[in-house]
Amino acid sequence: MFLELRDLHVKYGNVEALHGINVHVDEGEIVTILGANGAGKTTTLMSISGLVQPSQGGVYFKGKALHEMPSHAVVREGITQSPEGRRVFGTLTVLENLNLGAFTSNDKARIRKTRDWIFELFPRLLERKDQLAGTLSGGEQQMLAIGRALMGDPKVLLLDEPSLGLAPILVKSIFETVRAINKTGMTVVLVEQNARAALKLATRGYVLEVGRVVMEDSAANLLANTDVQDAYLGGS
Ligand code: ATP
Repeated sequence: MFLELRDLHVKYGNVEALHGINVHVDEGEIVTILGANGAGKTTTLMSISGLVQPSQGGVYFKGKALHEMPSHAVVREGITQSPEGRRVFGTLTVLENLNLGAFTSNDKARIRKTRDWIFELFPRLLERKDQLAGTLSGGEQQMLAIGRALMGDPKVLLLDEPSLGLAPILVKSIFETVRAINKTGMTVVLVEQNARAALKLATRGYVLEVGRVVMEDSAANLLANTDVQDAYLGGS
């Protein structure tokens, strides 16, 4: 098994946000996690990247227990997350932000190659490489957050709402970029409000409702499912 969440429970204080979810991701897939606000999508990603600890169950990557590792060790295992919103370092430049994403590597040639690839994916970042990240537009900061996650040369990229707050033309381009990233062989776990676009891109999907997986199927079947259409795809 490549990546597996097994009977995962997560609590915030006394309140349980995930009530024992089972999710698996095969190598090379794009798996999307759908759900209403508060369903537990972000919590699911954060438990994979080690930013929250399960109260029961666990997260396994190629058989290794990720939930027993600190989050920097999870990055070393090859899993990086582009967080929701604009969590870039505002007082550092674009280039400095990207370089921070490469903290797991000392291989200068490889870092340069990855950076060049990121600049190909996001030419806007190259144009603005010396600009302070805090002065970038929302969309540019989103690109930078994804770029920084890619700098770790991950095997699995966790994307939390990559299209959030982007203009429609950029939304299309960000999904095309995710497809291009996946074509390189990288596995992607995608959380997206834009469920239709996410399902068009994904291999499989899970539907979360208040901390439980209520549906799991191929992306094509989920797109065609009338319950999913009514709840998440605007009923069409
Ligand atoms: P959204 O689409 O609104 O981002 P989500 O599906 O990503 O939602 P989560 O952010 O995972 O949902 O939240 C799941 C539940 O856990 C929610 O009820 C939320 O209020 C709660 N929660 C999340 N983070 C914390 C926290 N740090 N402390 C307490 N409760 C939290």
